[in-house]
Amino acid sequence: YAAKNSNGGHAFYDGKIDQHNPTRLTLLGELRHAVEQEQFVLYYQPKVDLRNLQVMGVEALVRWNHPREDLLLPDTFVPLLEQTGMIRSLTPWVLNESLRQGQLLQDQGLPITISMNLSVRDLQDPYLADAFAEQLAALQISPRWLELEITESAVMTEPERALEVLARLSAMGLRIAIDDFGTGYSSLSYLKKLPVNTIKIDKSFVIGMERDENDAAIVRTSVDLAHNLKLEVVAEGVENEETLKRLSELGCDTAQGHYISRPLSAEELAVWLKQSSWAIERNPKLLRLHK
Ligand code: C2E
Ligand code: MG
Ligand code: MG
Ligand code: MG
Repeated sequence: YAAKNSNGGHAFYDGKIDQHNPTRLTLLGELRHAVEQEQFVLYYQPKVDLRNLQVMGVEALVRWNHPREDLLLPDTFVPLLEQTGMIRSLTPWVLNESLRQGQLLQDQGLPITISMNLSVRDLQDPYLADAFAEQLAALQISPRWLELEITESAVMTEPERALEVLARLSAMGLRIAIDDFGTGYSSLSYLKKLPVNTIKIDKSFVIGMERDENDAAIVRTSVDLAHNLKLEVVAEGVENEETLKRLSELGCDTAQGHYISRPLSAEELAVWLKQSSWAIERNPKLLRLHK
């Protein structure tokens, strides 16, 4: 049974596959094969700069192009890849694909960053920074167009090791964002120590912020915290115009969510970048937002 959704993927397998469920073994075998065969595909979700309402970046989100199913969403297989360490084979593939997409954007003269997600295993990998340096050099892409999204929980699993890996990546010129901010084991002292450029407020606070005063307070406080630390702040999960407006009033720098665009295939992204109102100058939405 594949629950259809419109995120460019399907929630097929139950995300919580337990140890004794035979499905887990089947899935493991299939995943091993998928990694060998590179049965994955990246979707790209635009991010918009709230100062001019123009696209400033895209986030790469992996899907599994399962041979017998439709596209599967990461929540159904990324946790298993992490548990088994197979994520270490996926990450270099995601990096390579992201950089190729980044190269396409650069070739079109578009000043757009590309973000990819790292897992806890990646942050404990002492060779990760070398792999990044190698691929960036091979494709001749400036590291400042590449952003890495990491969660607080991934950092806090082994903070000293993660800090070392991140320090190297940051020294190479890559940008680093804290993903799902507010949901993990936060430590403000690590936020201060980490070479972070951006805080990404979790969608669970953003989705209900016009209705729920507590969510609104968390978003407002996160925006202020980011700015007081001289960091950029992104809100994910922007699903309507009202939320976009509130975020803009709060001084949030960047927004991402279904209201702007769902994650898109590479082909869809190319069309979106040409045709979307977020992609053109003198955006009519800007006038509406500030009226
Ligand atoms: P994330 O990095 O926090 O990504 C945001 C998730 O929210 C994405 O789900 C996206 O499709 C969804 N989303 C975006 N806008 C909205 C919105 O307006 N409303 C709602 N309700 N949802 C929205 P997705 O693509 O299923 O990815 C889930 C998670 O899987 C990601 O969370 C990330 O942690 C992980 N992931 C995705 N790609 C990769 C990857 O290449 N490597 C690793 N290690 N993890 C990945
Ligand atoms: Mg992310
Ligand atoms: Mg997130
Ligand atoms: Mg998340």
